[in-house]
Parts: sequence; structure tokens; C-alpha cells
Amino acid sequence: MVKDSNNLLKINQVLYLVKFASLFFSAMAFFQYYYQNESANNIYSFGIFAFIILVILLLYIFWDFLWSKKIKYKFLLTWIQPLVFISFSTVAILLTGSYESNYKFLFMFIIISSTIESGFKLGITTSSVCSLIILSLDLILVKTHNSINSYFGSDLVLVGAFLILAYTIGIYVKTEKEHIEELKDRANIDGLTNLYNHRYFYDAIAKAIKESDENKTSLSLLFIDIDYFKYYNDLHGHQKGDEVLKIIARVLKSSVREKDLVARYGGEEFAVMLPDTVEDEAIEIAENLRLKIQNVTFEGQEYQPNENLTISLGVSVYPQKAKTETELIKFADEALYRAKFLRKNRVEGYSSIFEDLQGDLDKDDREVVTSIKTLIAVINARDKYTYGHVERVVAYCKILAEKLDLCIKDNKNLIYGAYMHDVGKINISKEILVKNTPLTPTEWDELKEHPQNAIAIIKNVKALNDVIPIILQHHEKLDGTGYPFKLEGDNINYLAKVLSVADSFDAMTSDRPYHRKKSISEGIEELRKCGGSQFDPEIVEKFIEAIKENMNHL
Ligand code: GH3
Ligand code: MG
Ligand code: MG
Repeated sequence: MVKDSNNLLKINQVLYLVKFASLFFSAMAFFQYYYQNESANNIYSFGIFAFIILVILLLYIFWDFLWSKKIKYKFLLTWIQPLVFISFSTVAILLTGSYESNYKFLFMFIIISSTIESGFKLGITTSSVCSLIILSLDLILVKTHNSINSYFGSDLVLVGAFLILAYTIGIYVKTEKEHIEELKDRANIDGLTNLYNHRYFYDAIAKAIKESDENKTSLSLLFIDIDYFKYYNDLHGHQKGDEVLKIIARVLKSSVREKDLVARYGGEEFAVMLPDTVEDEAIEIAENLRLKIQNVTFEGQEYQPNENLTISLGVSVYPQKAKTETELIKFADEALYRAKFLRKNRVEGYSSIFEDLQGDLDKDDREVVTSIKTLIAVINARDKYTYGHVERVVAYCKILAEKLDLCIKDNKNLIYGAYMHDVGKINISKEILVKNTPLTPTEWDELKEHPQNAIAIIKNVKALNDVIPIILQHHEKLDGTGYPFKLEGDNINYLAKVLSVADSFDAMTSDRPYHRKKSISEGIEELRKCGGSQFDPEIVEKFIEAIKENMNHL
């Protein structure tokens, strides 16, 4: 881009020079004419000459100002400019002896500048018009009517030179333009899939956001990731993997509308930009793409964990959900994360727990919730594990709530609890959170304070009153060995027990600084082992059922 504008600057400088030369020589012609008719002293005539140049220069600056503005009928200016210059030069030639004038070369400048500026067609047209004027002068205004004037021969050569000049510069400009276009395309296109690349995608999305603002339309974005693609590559090799990428690119490209833009966002990730598309429509398009890929038979797909090669899609929409370009991309990514987790081969629209919560709040509460939202963002940013962890615990709680047949109110509170259960960790030092050796007793004591810290943050939000016991007690154990109150059995809030199972299962099955992660089946085994002492065994069984139903690849 920077190189482009540098080149443009250089070309503009040449154009300025050519146009200025043309104006300068025209001014000289006018001056010559004036000097022939008026017998003025030298200083006076120099003043006139300077004045003429100044007027012409001012006119040109005004013209250039017009040119740089975004005006509707700019294409007219492309034609007006050479016309003005031609008229100007013609007058200069007429004043300095018409067909006998020494200023016929003035046309040369116009031909050069208009060909460089506007290309082959206008260059040839301009040179033809100039040629016609010169030959007409020779034929019409010649004083001796009985013979062809002696200038005609040399003018024919001049006309030939005009045409050759326009032709050669025109061809040069045309090839250069084509070459630049080709280079631009090559820089924007991904070599393997022939889709637009990451770089182009970013430029395009910025433009699309502007258009969506101007036209007051929605802009939707799909993020697409191939499921278990590493597995496919490991089994069949990278070349076969590349074939899959090409086929998927082709299917995506041929399945979207003309106005949509498909890009290869990363190695095995694609993005589709859907202008003038609301969320429901985008989800429908995404679902259609998912089905199409599901129905394509890829070589060796039967060995994939879900016996098919599939994709997952995340959907986000501007401006209804995402308020900025960064959010549009981030939300699509978050939605994709959710689509991937548990089942895969799924479409997920972006949703924020806080949007649902906003409805239940009065004005003061809304401010507190906004702060909580910021807090969660801070926690997510500082510790990668917590980000994924909260997302996953929420997802587990959702399927578990369904299995347990919770009423709407409990369901909602459980999800809020799941979202906010680690908010209290904001007060805990990062060293403790990411420490990869066992914690010292003092460090443990500090960590154990996080449920109470969370309550200190949310206690003023009326709408979250019922969430307090869930968060406060989610580390209590059935046998009374948990914290902070060492509560036992039925004294522990039921939803806190539910959250405890989801939270612990994710902690076991994720990589933590201090232990290797367990597989899903090892995690299930561990839950069963601790049923009765740490967890409510009934909840554990329901959880395992839910996991088995939802993780279709187990
Ligand atoms: P998930 O379902 O969670 O997405 O699992 P996954 O295996 O697809 O996981 P992940 O997204 O981490 O794996 C990305 C893999 O994509 C790693 C690499 O083998 C493969 N990949 C990335 N770029 C290319 C590429 O240009 N060609 C090929 N053949 N494979 C690629
Ligand atoms: Mg990936
Ligand atoms: Mg993948």
C-alpha cells in the first residue's frame, strides 16, 4: 500500500511537470503575441509575462483542487481537462501565426499527460483531435489558396509523431496497469485454495463495516474450522490434507452468494463475510455450508473420530451484537469455540450471558454487571486456562441442567453462577494461578478465599442474590472437607453441587500448570470414584449421561 502511494506520488510529480511545461510555453506564446502588438518596455512586459503565468497557475491549482475532491461526475473531468488544455494551446497557436506558429509542439504535452493519466483510449483520442486541429489549420487558414503550404509536410510528420507518442505511452501504461493488477491479485490470493488470504480479508472487513454503517445494514461473519483435521493429516499425510482444503474451499465458494466473500483465514480455518445479512439468515447459510461439507465424501473420512470429515462454524453479527470490527472477529471466534467444544460439526451463533442478564436488571445493577463483565474480560486476558475453563463449565452446566430438568429460574442462576464462579480469582496473584509446583499452605489459604471474594463483588446486584450461595459453596464437599465452611451433605446448596461437578470435571480434563490432563473416560472414572465423598453421586451419574450423549465421538 505504501509502495503504491509512493509510486503514485512519483507519477503525479511527472504529470505536474508536463502540465506546467505546457502552461509555461503557452504563456510564452501569449507573451510573444502581446509583445508583437504592444511596444512596451522590458520591465513592464516581464511583469505581464509573470502575470499571465500566475493567472494560469492559479487556474491550474483550482482545477487540481477540484480533481482531488470526491465528486459525482469525475469522469467528466477526465474529458474536460484535455479539452481545456487543447483549447488553450489552440488559442496560443492561433495567436502566434496559426499554421506558421512555432508552438504546435504544445499539443505534445497534452498528449503525454492525458495518456499517462487516463490511459490508451483517451491518449489516442487526444492525439487524433490535436492532429486534426493542426491539419485543419494547414488546410483552412492557409493564405495561398492555389498551392499546399510548405508547413503541411512537416506537420504531417508532427501528426505522425503525436500518434506514435500516444500509442507507445498508451500501450506502456496499459501493460503496467495490468501487471500491477496481477501483482495485487497475487498478493491477495492464497496459493493453495485460490481464496482471498488473511490480509485481504482484513482490508475487506474494514470496508464492509463502513458500508454497513453507511447503508444501515447488518454485516455477518462466519468462522469455519475443520474438525479433527490434525488427526486426518497425521493419518493420511499433509498432501491429502491439502486436497481436503482445496475441496472445502471450492464447496464454500460455490455455495455462497455473489456478494459474499470467502477467505482462507488460517491453516485450516476459513472465514466468510456476509454483507447485508442479519443473524438468522447467517445461521441458515452456515447450517447449509455445514450440511454440504458433511455430505461430501472425502477420501479416508471413515477413519475420522466421527466417521466423517466435517466443519464447525461460529457466527457473529455487526452491529446488533459486535459493536466494533475487533468484536466482530472475536465473537465469531468465541462462537466457533463453543461450536467445537463437546460435539463439533455444529453451527453456533454468538451469545453473551450478559445480554440475557441485562433484561433482569435495574439501572444501578446494570452498572455493576458491566463492571463484572470487565472483570471477567481481565481474568480471561491474564490467564488463558480460565478463559476456556469458564466457557467449558458453562457448556457442561447447560447440558447438565437439561438432563436434571431444572426449572427456568434454577437453570438461569446455575448459568450465571458458572460464568462468575471464578471472578474472585481477580484478587489472587498470577504467580499462584500459574504455579507449576504444589502450593504452600499460605498460598492455599489465599486461593481458598476466591469464593468469598466473588461474593464481595456480586453482592450488590439484586438480580444475582440467588447466585450467591452457588458461587460461595461450589468448593464444598459432601463429606464436609471442602471450603470455605466445611458444609456437609444436604446443607450444601443443590446448584452449588451441580456446579462443583462441572467445574471439577473440566479441571481434571484440562492441562493445568501442575498436572497432566486426564482423558474424558479417565475424568468420568474419577467423578464416579469421588461420588458420595466429594460429589453428589446422583448428579455425577446424570452428568456422565449428558456427556456421553453430547460428546458423540467418545
Ligand atoms: P479441532 O476439531 O478441535 O479443530 O481439531 P483439529 O485437529 O482440527 O485441531 P487444530 O485446529 O488445532 O489443528 C489444526 C491442524 O490443521 C494442524 C495441522 O495439521 C493442520 N493444518 C494447518 N494448516 C494446514 C495446511 O496448510 N495443510 C494441511 N494439510 N494441514 C494443515
Ligand atoms: Mg484450528
Ligand atoms: Mg480444526
